[in-house]
Amino acid sequence: MSTAVVVGSGPNGLAAAVALAREGVEVTVLEAAGRIGGGARSTEAIRPGLLHDDCSAFHPMAVGSAFLAQLGLDRYGLSWAWPDIDCAHPLDGGDAALLHRSVAATEAALGADGARWRRAFGRPAARFDALAEDIMGPLLRFPKHPLTLARFGLPAALPGAVFARLFATERARALFGGIAAHAFRPLHHPMTSAIGLGIIAAGHRHGWPVATGGSGSITTALAKLLADLGGRIETGVRVTSATQLPPADVTLFDLAPGAVADILGDRLPPRIARAYRRYRHGPGAFKVDFAVEGGVPWANADVRRAGTVHLGGTYAELAAGEREIHAGRLPARPFVLAGQQYLADPGRSAGNVHPLWTYAHVPHGYPGDATEAIIAQIERFAPGFRDRIVGTAVRSATEMAVYNPNYVGGDVITGATTVRQLVFGPRITLSPYDVGVPGMYLCSAATPPGAGAHGMCGANAAARALRHLRRTRRA
Ligand SMILES: Cc1cc2nc3c(=O)[nH]c(=O)nc-3n(C[C@H](O)[C@H](O)[C@H](O)COP(=O)(O)OP(=O)(O)OC[C@H]3O[C@@H](n4cnc5c(N)ncnc54)[C@H](O)[C@@H]3O)c2cc1C
Repeated sequence: MSTAVVVGSGPNGLAAAVALAREGVEVTVLEAAGRIGGGARSTEAIRPGLLHDDCSAFHPMAVGSAFLAQLGLDRYGLSWAWPDIDCAHPLDGGDAALLHRSVAATEAALGADGARWRRAFGRPAARFDALAEDIMGPLLRFPKHPLTLARFGLPAALPGAVFARLFATERARALFGGIAAHAFRPLHHPMTSAIGLGIIAAGHRHGWPVATGGSGSITTALAKLLADLGGRIETGVRVTSATQLPPADVTLFDLAPGAVADILGDRLPPRIARAYRRYRHGPGAFKVDFAVEGGVPWANADVRRAGTVHLGGTYAELAAGEREIHAGRLPARPFVLAGQQYLADPGRSAGNVHPLWTYAHVPHGYPGDATEAIIAQIERFAPGFRDRIVGTAVRSATEMAVYNPNYVGGDVITGATTVRQLVFGPRITLSPYDVGVPGMYLCSAATPPGAGAHGMCGANAAARALRHLRRTRRA
């Protein structure tokens, strides 16, 4: 029987482990933390019965993941729940832009820009499943749906700032800008439309659901399936050197590229080691979970029905803020993402106290405290919020990197979304999962298709590993 070791039990590590175990490979997963799950863990961080997502919260990519969908994870307790409104972007004065799962409902809510929104996103949303076959893996390969990919790829190559000019109203510009800002990159940089376009198209196809019982249900379900397939997970094992790796036919790393360079040292070809050490990480995230008595008193009633709330004001304000954090400065009003997962999944609340998940975009490695800036951004659109806070749990950008070493400098998407890294991954190659040592692969969100709890990086890397196993068995 072939053997595999997977280092790291994030959604990609576990997806890789399951993909290998399904093919009869004997898999051992080594996880540094005391709990499995990486960026898909949930905790009663403030008080018993009040459940917060430690990291990932909304899952348009996971619910649409071709790999996760075929695993039957519902048998292992995974189910999805959708809020009434996917995303709201409140503006000063009580207005708000709303993103609905339905393109038609979003069109109606956006008024004068509604038809432009439909023209921009209607087709990629309708063709999303075909598109996903091309964008959920390495971009540099012959596409299965070249026309669909070309139609998506041309606008995706644009800076978000250029794409936003399609729209005439502040509502639509801000809504698009907030979603494009998930790239953690100044919006005048090339290809900063790509991630926003992908999330919007996936959202119009699948919605922005939460995992019932917390995002931890995704990785718990994967771990249960892995156990059924005979796989083993050891927690509390931080791999820092190749000498700690048990002998195996294939080894996969659910890690940041720099960590792989440290572990493998001079076993890596020098040019690959250099590329991994030069791999760029982006700005950080500063996270605050709140316990809120009676929920957030948003001024706009629709925002009270939205799973995700983007707090960044106008497009211009948001774009200026992203420029600032990129330059290493925390703006007075940073971009804040808030999550009201309990609206779709009421079991996360404790009576009338509800969990509010938030994080702010902050500079890479930001050592300061952004709690007050986050509270002020919420209070701006929900006067009276401060008085309803009955508890907080804070994880700063530097603590993020301790909590999960993949989040270098608090970079929660495991890599800066530069054009080069978006197109190629951690090094310029057609095989971004190969680390240049036969039988060893990188499977983390640093590889295509990038961040998210969709498991596709792991599934793609496992496919490379299985090919290697088949080839060596034949030889
Ligand atoms: C605050 C926040 C909000 C987010 N929001 C969303 C969202 O709403 N939707 C979404 O889809 N995504 C979101 N993400 C991103 C998503 O969580 C990640 O992209 C995803 O978890 C990446 O999965 P992964 O398996 O590549 O790595 P990770 O989930 O980072 O897992 C890596 C694992 O490897 C372990 N590890 C690291 N070093 C070692 C070592 N040396 N030895 C052994 N084990 C090691 C870590 O402990 C960790 O368990 C968010 C992330 C954060 C932090």
